Amino acid sequence: MSDYGIHWFRRDLRLTGNAALERNLARHPGRVLGVFTFDRKFLARPDFSHGRFLFFLRTLENLRDEMRALGGDLLFLDEGPDAAFPSLLDTLRKSSLGLPKMVSFNRDYEPFARARDLRLSELFENRYGLLIHSERDHLLVEPEELSKDDEGGFYQVYSPFKRKWLGIFANGETNSRLREVGKWLKNGPPEFALRWDNPAFVKTGKPIFKQTGVLETYIEETSKRVPASLVARGPKIGHAAAKEALKNFRDDWLAGYGEQRDIPSLSGTSKISVYLKNGTLTVPQVICLLKLTADSPHIKYFQELIWREFYYHILYHCPRVENEAFLKKYANLPWGNNPEWFKKWCEGRTGYPIVDAGMRQLNETGWMHNRVRMVVASFLTKDLLIDWKWGEKYFMEKLLDGDLAPNNGGWQWAASTGCDPQPYFRIFNPTSQGEKFDPEGKYVKQWVPELAGVPVKTIHDPKNPIVDHSVQRNLALALYKAARAPQ
Ligand SMILES: Cc1cc2nc3c(=O)[nH]c(=O)nc-3n(C[C@H](O)[C@H](O)[C@H](O)COP(=O)(O)OP(=O)(O)OC[C@H]3O[C@@H](n4cnc5c(N)ncnc54)[C@H](O)[C@@H]3O)c2cc1C
Repeated sequence: MSDYGIHWFRRDLRLTGNAALERNLARHPGRVLGVFTFDRKFLARPDFSHGRFLFFLRTLENLRDEMRALGGDLLFLDEGPDAAFPSLLDTLRKSSLGLPKMVSFNRDYEPFARARDLRLSELFENRYGLLIHSERDHLLVEPEELSKDDEGGFYQVYSPFKRKWLGIFANGETNSRLREVGKWLKNGPPEFALRWDNPAFVKTGKPIFKQTGVLETYIEETSKRVPASLVARGPKIGHAAAKEALKNFRDDWLAGYGEQRDIPSLSGTSKISVYLKNGTLTVPQVICLLKLTADSPHIKYFQELIWREFYYHILYHCPRVENEAFLKKYANLPWGNNPEWFKKWCEGRTGYPIVDAGMRQLNETGWMHNRVRMVVASFLTKDLLIDWKWGEKYFMEKLLDGDLAPNNGGWQWAASTGCDPQPYFRIFNPTSQGEKFDPEGKYVKQWVPELAGVPVKTIHDPKNPIVDHSVQRNLALALYKAARAPQ
């Protein structure tokens, strides 16, 4: 029996431009088995989202179907990797196939994932003697590559981070992925030919593993908990759909992105965050497709992709932000945490039209426009004086693109507890934000239908507001000021 490999899929749910999978296939042409391990503990997470889980499962199903169409397969193992891999590898060892030669995976930068990968790498190498091949994928420039020139340490402010990031990108020689992007920019993405022999199941006559329909069962069970309207309005599934969404954005909106990206009534943004989250699409592919260069006229869009990398960078170098304020002086702000106000905020019933529109868009579609995310986050923390961690968790429960690094970064930015030079007194006025970015009230009228008949002139005025912005603003200033005072 000739050598074969296993590719461990995690948040790289696509076949094209998947570096680790490509390397594995190059070594074992046509003989790589895909594996996904699912840890049930995940279902009990406090910020678990049925909507996001369903989107993830359907993406996985789509990937499996693509692999099957190519003669391969994706094993869905209904256990966490610490239990699933020993039982898989022990079974393989005893089978006619024997052990694989290699396990490949793409790197993940979240604290729990880094610890998991260390543990599993040790298991693969030491207990089973397997080769491990890991690659960059989720980020284009990895956190370890970006240290401050003179002082060492890590970047804590976006602008210098961006300059350094773009410098590395323009240089293009520092790593293979960047070189590859350079090549793609000239030639377009390479064709990725796969030839699958499907080592484990089909060719051996008698299947070694039976796929018991676990994935289908999870999909069925989760579907019951997600409103049909959310599924119907949600994004299409899979790499081809992601590419199509990006191409449509390129053709219709990219040229005007700088001006239109802040107008929530337009479809002026790319809506690819949900695909980047699961690796259905990667940053190098976005760069290739949109032909982004360091001096690109579309630098504004490029900068947003760099924001995403920045927040991963912060999480990687400062993992404690997952549980606490980046700025230690704001770790114990005495939040009011009024549960009634929180409920009204969640439901989109605060009386501030732009806030209510944003929350209802989130509840109904699993996505919210970035400008409005900033407004509702500022409102929760600086007007309602509610802990940003409550809002962060609620977003994770609802967002289809919910992702620890950018979500935590976005919330800490809005709450002024994060790594941002802007001082604590940046407080968004929800009325003037509405007037500026939704001047005709189109966005508000779409999501808050009871305001459909209100004249444009007064559309953003508060309607029976739960708090008075000018009063709350002063309370917020006092709250932060007290925390800054020397003890
Ligand atoms: C409070 C708050 C919470 C957020 N939570 C998340 C989250 O859980 N997951 C998530 O992916 N993004 C989050 N963001 C960032 C941003 O709102 C979304 O990435 C963006 O709205 C996604 O829509 P898009 O793909 O059309 O963006 P586009 O405007 O088309 O931008 C392209 C890509 O750049 C990245 N990007 C854009 N804006 C930001 C930003 N401000 N910070 C980091 N990356 C950015 C995203 O990957 C996005 O897909 C949050 C922002 C705030 C203020």
